Amino acid sequence: MNLQQLPKVELHLHLEGAAPPAFIRRLGQEKDVNLSGVFSEDGNYIFNDFVDFLRVYEAATEVLKSPDDFRRLIEAVLAESASHGVIYTEMFISPDFCGGADLGAWREYLHAMQDGAERAEVEHGIKMRGIVTCIRHMGPDQAKKAAHCAAETAGDWIVGFGMGGDENVGHQSDYAYSFDMAKEAGLRLTTHAGEWRGPQEVRDAIALGAERIGHGVRCASDPELVKELVARGTVLEVCPGSNVTLGVYPSLSEHPLHRLAEAGVAVTVSTDDPPFFHSTMTSEYEGLAKTFGWDEERFLELARTSANAAFCDVDTRAELLKRIDAQ
Ligand SMILES: [Zn+2]
Repeated sequence: MNLQQLPKVELHLHLEGAAPPAFIRRLGQEKDVNLSGVFSEDGNYIFNDFVDFLRVYEAATEVLKSPDDFRRLIEAVLAESASHGVIYTEMFISPDFCGGADLGAWREYLHAMQDGAERAEVEHGIKMRGIVTCIRHMGPDQAKKAAHCAAETAGDWIVGFGMGGDENVGHQSDYAYSFDMAKEAGLRLTTHAGEWRGPQEVRDAIALGAERIGHGVRCASDPELVKELVARGTVLEVCPGSNVTLGVYPSLSEHPLHRLAEAGVAVTVSTDDPPFFHSTMTSEYEGLAKTFGWDEERFLELARTSANAAFCDVDTRAELLKRIDAQ
């Protein structure tokens, strides 16, 4: 079974968090930006815990200053994903990192990013759609700016709105205004919940209107909530490698992904911020094959679930399913 070549659909990938370390180092040198404390001696990102991870993440993004930087970044990230069999990616992109959530600047960044994605599609056959994210620990007022950028640029390429950042700051409902604005603009909704906080956070995400939940794995401790997720068809964007590296679970064998899938929850698998967690879609699949005995048929079913949960248009979805079924 060649896991690397199996067609994959990834729904939870942060653009800056997917930046190859060599790419960021090179850009830092070009721009003469001090990146001390970001890299270990072997050239990888270095951090101690989740809060430290967010610090390093934001320090690394300091070198990404212009629309052209983001064009190059998208191309580099999609080339890397395509090399692991990914045929479609939904990428979290943040207006806060692209011109400080100013709408005029955001349009310029967006134009460049779409250009980068189109080049990657021609060169590597990978499709991408964007989910605009606000950053929770920047607070509700800043989130409104991101939501405004999202609403004004909603369409075939910007297809969703979501929230990342530190889950331990505030409450999902603090961001309801932003999620409502995005929904009214026709955007589909997802939010990070139930990664660090427990089942109540997942319930709050559902109340916010999220169709998909970033992580959501902490629902596993609440059987009633698990039943509700099954009944609703809520999709979890599960990132096992991220969870284990950040210590949400001590090991993959103790991770609830397999149990949730067996209980009928619609689970998908993504890498989150792959170079930070030394993971790839291939290594995620290898872990699941080894730990839970998942086979090729199961991985193709996983790709179908992910394609069906994608926020893209129906024609794109049909094309993805065709590519998966052709396997
Ligand atoms: Zn994430």
